[in-house]
Amino acid sequence: MRILVTAGPTREHLDPVRFLSNRSTGKMGFAIAQCAAARGHEVVLVAGPVVLASPPGVRRVDVVSARDMLAAVEDHLPACEALVMCAAVADWRPRQASAVKLKKRAMAPVLELEANPDILATIRGRKENRIFVGFAAETGDPLPEGRRKLTEKGLDLLVANDVSRQDSGFAVDFNCVTLLPIEGPEQQLPLLPKLKVAERIVAWVEQELAARPQKEMQK
Ligand code: C5P
Repeated sequence: MRILVTAGPTREHLDPVRFLSNRSTGKMGFAIAQCAAARGHEVVLVAGPVVLASPPGVRRVDVVSARDMLAAVEDHLPACEALVMCAAVADWRPRQASAVKLKKRAMAPVLELEANPDILATIRGRKENRIFVGFAAETGDPLPEGRRKLTEKGLDLLVANDVSRQDSGFAVDFNCVTLLPIEGPEQQLPLLPKLKVAERIVAWVEQELAARPQKEMQK
């Protein structure tokens, strides 16, 4: 299959040297890209600013902001059968970005923010027969929010993780997730290396894609 994976944070600049972002390091998304390529799939990896090396056999597209990421996803989606939105897209950006470094003044500036586009919501109408996988990073029980996002964002699978745990989630090599498919039972996975979590997600997408023509015929 051809699979589009997004990874890492986005940066929302307020001037050339300052930005808003989040704690994502891209490890989970890069593990998914690595695993999919190792299983013989064609992978496009849209990466926010991260310090990770590209996995072998992966086509990487680097982006900075949420709007750049949206444009890259829109470019590459038509050629792909599956999308895994693993990126931690920044929800807001400064309403105004200065082209030059802002001067330090006695009074701290007041930042006015505006909402970034929701990438999944924007491309939802172009889903067609594609598999869409999303992530929900929550502090606290991720399942209620995960279930809500699964249906609200029109996904086939939502990967829910509790990012308040020290041993799992952001910036570590392990993750503890629950797979919430739109059909079928939820699967709570144990604490696993991100590469193992990636294998489960890629295998789920492979199975779902293999079952698709049959499902369409049954309708
Ligand atoms: O709403 P929330 O940000 O928690 O949703 C997480 C899911 O939505 C992730 O799959 C993320 O990549 C995606 N997302 C998006 N566009 C945004 C924010 C999040 O596609 N602006």
